[in-house]
Amino acid sequence: MLSAADHTDRLEAAKRAIHSPSKSTIWKGYHDYQSLYMKGLLEGDEALQIEALKGLIDASESLGLDPTRYKNALKTIRPDLVKKAKKHETKEKKGAYVTPVSGKKRLKLKDSRVTGGYLVLRFSAALDRKNLRKFVLKRKKSILYVFDLTPVRLPYSIKRIKGKGFKEIRIAQYDPKKIRIVVETLKPYTPKASITGDRLKISLPSLRKAPAARKRAEAPKKRKDVSKKSPQKAAAKSPAATKTKALSNVLPGSALRRYTVVIDPGHGGKDGGAVGYQKRREKDAVLAVAKRLKKELQKRGFNVYLTREKDIFIPLKKRTRFANRKQADFFVSIHANAAAKRRNYLKNKGIETYFLSPAKTGRAKRVAAIENRAEIKNIDRYTKDAVLSMLNREKIIESNKLAIDLQRQMLASVRKKYKDVVDNGVRKGPFWVLVGAQMPAVLIEIGYITHPTEARRIFNPYYQKLLAEGIANGIESYIYHKTRSY
Ligand SMILES: [Zn+2]
Repeated sequence: MLSAADHTDRLEAAKRAIHSPSKSTIWKGYHDYQSLYMKGLLEGDEALQIEALKGLIDASESLGLDPTRYKNALKTIRPDLVKKAKKHETKEKKGAYVTPVSGKKRLKLKDSRVTGGYLVLRFSAALDRKNLRKFVLKRKKSILYVFDLTPVRLPYSIKRIKGKGFKEIRIAQYDPKKIRIVVETLKPYTPKASITGDRLKISLPSLRKAPAARKRAEAPKKRKDVSKKSPQKAAAKSPAATKTKALSNVLPGSALRRYTVVIDPGHGGKDGGAVGYQKRREKDAVLAVAKRLKKELQKRGFNVYLTREKDIFIPLKKRTRFANRKQADFFVSIHANAAAKRRNYLKNKGIETYFLSPAKTGRAKRVAAIENRAEIKNIDRYTKDAVLSMLNREKIIESNKLAIDLQRQMLASVRKKYKDVVDNGVRKGPFWVLVGAQMPAVLIEIGYITHPTEARRIFNPYYQKLLAEGIANGIESYIYHKTRSY
């Protein structure tokens, strides 16, 4: 068994992350603490649970989440650590996304805008210069000019402003009292901050010249010169080049972003998964579909990894851990369904997509029980429930959205030829393989291996190709929706 000491590096990294000025980094730290807490639960390591819970409480407060459930969990291990529970927190228990602010003197942000080379913020009352702190953080590729202001309350948890001359401005509630304004630029400049009455004005980089953009445009040329092959020829040969272009047309403003997908063919090795019609095995069908999907996504410019390329056994925990290590944007676990009873072999058919959720409908429970079989028995019920109740709401919502796009596109694709494929819809369930994924994660049941027609289809290369194209379309459609909603 490991102790907290062995997780020192990860705990420290999470701590750094939750004290970062960037909201997305804080989220990352929060998720890291969650997975460390789960690790603590799974390994029975109390010291790790305590450290992770303390971090989760801090992170929740920075993110404006309700820390009550973490405090309660900490209370059960070390009641002495959770004495100073404040009154206002119980009042705000109902929603997970309440901003924990109370107090009277706090100023409100009324308005924020970029105008005439300045970021101008207007507050509900006069500001005090003493309450403004400035500092600079240097990153690998950018510089963060940070302005902390107290005591202020935001009407939102974070606002991002894009514009010319700077990379991004972020205004966020840093802790219950402090707001943090970050001006992120690619090149250094000297920002001036001035306070007049209820207004804070921060100067932005001058727009006169933008040498950074020009430099970037020149960079690929150099690379081409070095290459001995004719660049045109290389581009024409590679199907990836044309498809990547198609993808970037679909994704405005994100052409430079390369998404990473981890595909997880279910089961493998000693765990054959469901056995179906004519003794066909789930593990073989799903591996074949996963390989096709990999090719399809690569053609479209994605980075793709499989959790297994061969018929080998991989514990469930390791599958999402692999995806987390690869910093994947998506985790797609591929499975085939099976009717529980012989008399339903001809009745049960169709495609369905699951996302992880503690909800327990009878059907989801049954499917999850089958898919979890390989190891769920090693985990006691209390731990299972504890872990499922820890799931991050935002991740569940994103996984749900991904599941909707995948299901819709898969159906549309296979029905081009197989009109009778049944749409079993999007469902939620407690799938152990999805626990711990730090990205939107779904589990697809590509059909019933116990149904004679479907079993034949899911082993049929053409059907597999349509499935793979549908899943790839679903991922692109999710990205498209997401990009547009920002
Ligand atoms: Zn399965």
